Amino acid sequence: MKRAEFWKKIKGRKVQCELCPHYCVIKEGECGKCKVRKNVGWKLYALNYDYPVSTNIDPIEKKPLFHFFPGSKSFSIGMAGCNLRCDHCQNYLISQKGSEEFCMKKFKVIDVVKKAVESGCKSISYTYTEPLVSYEYIIEIMMLAKKKGLKNVIVSNGFINPEPLKKLCEYIDGANIDLKAMSDEFYRKNCGGRLKPVLESLRLLKKNKIWLEVTNLLIPGKNTNEQQIKKLINWVGENLGKNVPLHFSGFFPTYKLSNLEPTSKKILNKSLKIGKEKMKYVYVGNIRDEEGENTICPKCGEIVIDRSGYEIIYNKLKKGECLCGKKISGVWE
Ligand code: SF4
Repeated sequence: MKRAEFWKKIKGRKVQCELCPHYCVIKEGECGKCKVRKNVGWKLYALNYDYPVSTNIDPIEKKPLFHFFPGSKSFSIGMAGCNLRCDHCQNYLISQKGSEEFCMKKFKVIDVVKKAVESGCKSISYTYTEPLVSYEYIIEIMMLAKKKGLKNVIVSNGFINPEPLKKLCEYIDGANIDLKAMSDEFYRKNCGGRLKPVLESLRLLKKNKIWLEVTNLLIPGKNTNEQQIKKLINWVGENLGKNVPLHFSGFFPTYKLSNLEPTSKKILNKSLKIGKEKMKYVYVGNIRDEEGENTICPKCGEIVIDRSGYEIIYNKLKKGECLCGKKISGVWE
């Protein structure tokens, strides 16, 4: 555990955490909503520091990032805890528990970076749960990773305050942000969060020129109304730009929504079609759909990157350009 950043002391030996928009007021001996930031002796500590719960080497396509060093490997690391309470969480076994509920193996900052370099990874991804609640650990890994020539990728819900995010932006190279729905009611009811701070984070990442892709998980009957989908596409197009890749992802029954059906191909294909009317790069994921996984040149219509699941079948891009000369937005070799 390490002394946390972004908090203040308040009366009665309580502390207030200022890392995310929950602004938890935490009594001595207790944790905030994310279960990984604890008031110990009237000081806030980050319990996850040096203790991840999951590490893997993943294809970057799994994040998903489709326009960021395609075909590269990313050393992926996840810590316990999350500041949202999504009914549909696919990683609830680690995200909805605090660090104190796990028996974790120490993985020091220096060793994480060393392992990523040794395993031939291009980047480190902070993923699986909500990485930003493990702020102190990830920022130190990011700083060292940069020095060693690695890229940093966050896969996040974007529910963080602007000040800490701004500081983190100095070290982030790529981000996939989960925009759950274009509805504050959805965020409040299904996730225990709010929409506005997520939109602010997206704008901030864009402003700081971080390579950004957006994912929207389509949950049947919850956020699949055509008007809602259009609203989300329009917001992304107007605020982040038409070049931002948008991933519509299929839902599988899990956690508190085990009673629902998986997202149908029809819903995903409809979203893909609506998305393509406004945006240049739209994808469908979590379902086998060869067409919805490919990157298509917006000028000549050729497939420039052919994918099958997380695998690249071919990549025709030359210095980020299609053979017709059109520049494809992204971060390429
Ligand atoms: S980061 Fe955790 S402790 Fe801090 S305000 Fe958010 S939920 Fe509360």
